[in-house]
Amino acid sequence: MSRFERVVIDLDGVLCDFVGGVLAEFDRESLLGHWPAGVYCIAEAMGVPISEIVDRCVRKRTSRAAAINWFRELDPYPWVEQLVAMLGDAGRGLCFATAPRLGPVEEYAGKKAWINRHVGAEVPISFVKDKSILARAHWLLIDDSPEECAAFERHGGKAILFPQPWNSNAGEASNQATRIAYVRRELDRLLAYRSGRRHLAGAV
Ligand SMILES: [Mg+2]
Repeated sequence: MSRFERVVIDLDGVLCDFVGGVLAEFDRESLLGHWPAGVYCIAEAMGVPISEIVDRCVRKRTSRAAAINWFRELDPYPWVEQLVAMLGDAGRGLCFATAPRLGPVEEYAGKKAWINRHVGAEVPISFVKDKSILARAHWLLIDDSPEECAAFERHGGKAILFPQPWNSNAGEASNQATRIAYVRRELDRLLAYRSGRRHLAGAV
């Protein structure tokens, strides 16, 4: 079966529980159980200005090291190992890509430390606000943002929208097994399509 040249994996909402970290900071963890349908933006879902989220999570930390640590200490989702292994098999190479969500420079250092801690330092990391600049033929993005997925495909790549309560695949986000099964089905569909096209091209 054919493979992708590279699989680009988003961090927040796919591997890293950024949403859980923010909700915990505001004692709003229960929001996950009744997330407003179709609302991707966490500030909108919480009814809190993004500036207040940045202040609480980063700016009001007592030191730069404490702000870096806020990102470093975010929980990994329980499916990290299984998902990264599956995506590793689907591509010739992996790349992690993350858009700074809260802006401050501490986020870069904290996320780099998070990756080193939970998924290993050997995979390249791209810090980009717009992941579509990485898009090209035979590259796959896996991301929880419908906009990022759509932009990546508009620029020539393929994308899988990772199921989460805040996107249109919320119905597949019941638990780890339903999420993994969805990604597996999408990978099989996309890889079969690639194999079919290669076979047809070879037959001409
Ligand atoms: Mg994300």
